[in-house]
Amino acid sequence: MTDFPRSLIEFQHRFADEAACARYLFAARWPEGFVCPSCAMTKAWELQTKPWTWECAGCGKQTSVTAGTIMHHSKLALTTWFWAAYLMATHSNGISALQLQRQLALGSYRSAWLLCGKLRRSMVAPGRSALAGLVEVDETEIPCRGKKDPVIGGGGRSHQGKMLIVGAVEVEDGGAGPGRIRLAEVPDYSAASLHPFIADNLAPGATAKTDGWSAYPGAPSVKHDPHVVGKMAAHIVLPWVHRMFSNLKVWALGVYHGLRRKHLQAYLDEFVFRFNRRRTRHAAFRSLLGIAAGHAPLSYKMLISPEAKP
Ligand SMILES: [Zn+2]
Repeated sequence: MTDFPRSLIEFQHRFADEAACARYLFAARWPEGFVCPSCAMTKAWELQTKPWTWECAGCGKQTSVTAGTIMHHSKLALTTWFWAAYLMATHSNGISALQLQRQLALGSYRSAWLLCGKLRRSMVAPGRSALAGLVEVDETEIPCRGKKDPVIGGGGRSHQGKMLIVGAVEVEDGGAGPGRIRLAEVPDYSAASLHPFIADNLAPGATAKTDGWSAYPGAPSVKHDPHVVGKMAAHIVLPWVHRMFSNLKVWALGVYHGLRRKHLQAYLDEFVFRFNRRRTRHAAFRSLLGIAAGHAPLSYKMLISPEAKP
């Protein structure tokens, strides 16, 4: 499976119907051929009575090609899921639920919103590798979008009406460009909030380059490279993380007209997903479906309440 669609025309030809999508899922899921999730036996028969379902020759367990993926038990056609994943992965700035509803002629805004939400949840690869080498780390804040008004923001230095974010960018080739990034929502800029971010996202032995903020030193297993600067010069000392922050803010306003606090981390994950796959946008489609296959299904309740457990 080294190939993937590079144009809308190619996509349409390749995933023209449910069977074509199911074949693709089968290959993505079982690249070496069917493996029973129960007993690991490789011999199975495709059922004639249930669509895209295989019955294990050993234990008799029936496994659908969508089992364990975000598409399982969905009323939407596989072709709809595939189109949504393709549009979301290949649009350089992403696509809103409203745009998706129109493009795919979905019956309701709610199902478009659910579809977007589920794909967005698939954007964090389980077991992704941590940032390594020299890594710029800094914090920023963005105004949050209220329920009615487009954007609310506290004036001056107040954190009121703002969401606090910490970000990290790998510096490639001695400063020639940015590598991969990470973003997380934090309650404040204390060591108790910043150290777990560093521990989760920077590989042991990485060097954290910061503006010298007192909460950074002492983060476990990373070297610390503080550059104490005035506010004005931070973008010169930490150019890549600052550029990433300004891109994030432009994106949040342009695509979503501002971000809401409730789903902030999911939007940050989408931004990170896009950025880290910016050079392989077409491959992001495949990666989106591939990653999605490793996720447990999410209910509507879990999407609207991020803290809910499956
Ligand atoms: Zn079995």
